[in-house]
Amino acid sequence: MVVQHAVVTHSLRKTYRSNVAVEDLSIVVERGQIFGFLGPNGAGKTTSVKMLTGLVRPTSGSALLLGRPVHERQSRTKVGFLPELFRFPEWLTGEELLDLHGKLYGMPAGERKRRIPIVLDIVGLAGRAGDRLQTYSKGMQQRAGLAQALLHEPDLVFLDEPTSALDPIGRRQVRDIIVQLRNQGTTVFLNSHLLSEVELVCDRVAVMNRGAIVASGTLDDLLGGHSDVELKLGRLTGDASTRLEMFGTLTISVPHPDDQTTIVLRMTNAGDLPRVVEMLVHQGVDVRGVSESRKTLEDLFIELIDDEDKVRYGR
Ligand code: ATP
Repeated sequence: MVVQHAVVTHSLRKTYRSNVAVEDLSIVVERGQIFGFLGPNGAGKTTSVKMLTGLVRPTSGSALLLGRPVHERQSRTKVGFLPELFRFPEWLTGEELLDLHGKLYGMPAGERKRRIPIVLDIVGLAGRAGDRLQTYSKGMQQRAGLAQALLHEPDLVFLDEPTSALDPIGRRQVRDIIVQLRNQGTTVFLNSHLLSEVELVCDRVAVMNRGAIVASGTLDDLLGGHSDVELKLGRLTGDASTRLEMFGTLTISVPHPDDQTTIVLRMTNAGDLPRVVEMLVHQGVDVRGVSESRKTLEDLFIELIDDEDKVRYGR
């Protein structure tokens, strides 16, 4: 049976007494994608991941992991999980920790022996395999946690803030690992507050606020495929301005006394920018400055959360 979706949820809900942690979660994560799951503190992300990984029982609703209902243990055999706040037994060495988790995954001894050096190498801890976890820095412990999540070659891996303890080099390495996983066909469900990071790697994102999804889609769907380019130009010569219109909409044009014209060109295809500059130079226009600005995920996130709060609190 070919399962197309790694995760499907239908109106998942979790309440703690009168507190609604997750109100209504309905999402689909396709296989082989990196899915970014975003939201402000307390939005319900970790509770959602806990419901999907069997750590918390949903109050209502249903979910499938790799085609199987989450309440079946079998649904988790090919799932890896790096929790946000984890504590591993510090007296174990990195290698022993992985061996323990390999046993918990039900991996035979030979398979554990084969995989442990591989995952330690992937996360950059090969040289520290025999050292106790208490001698690891926070970043190293997070890498050990990631190695644990990847040990049994999962088809789907949940990573809750996998780079929170890492320095910029470590973050980039983890980003590369995530992309590598996707390239091998593994689905990655990524919880992260680092929106610039999410923007770099995710195929699709969903934004949660106060227990419900407030936006979801590809980055192009959410941010718009266009980009605004500000061009600082000398006098417009030839038919430069007519030609510019072939690349998008000219939204502002301000002639300065020194003959400088500032144009904002909303381009439908940002990849055309080198051709725009080439055309201007060819038309004899003096190109003094080019700067591109694209809406970022952070802009969208702040807009969404602000708008919601305005509606709720009448701000
Ligand atoms: P963060 O980004 O800060 O980690 P989050 O989006 O992961 O936040 P959750 O940890 O899922 O948010 O919390 C969602 C809501 O559920 C919060 O109001 C939180 O106080 C509440 N909550 C979470 N776990 C429990 C619990 N065990 N008992 C009671 N309330 C809880």
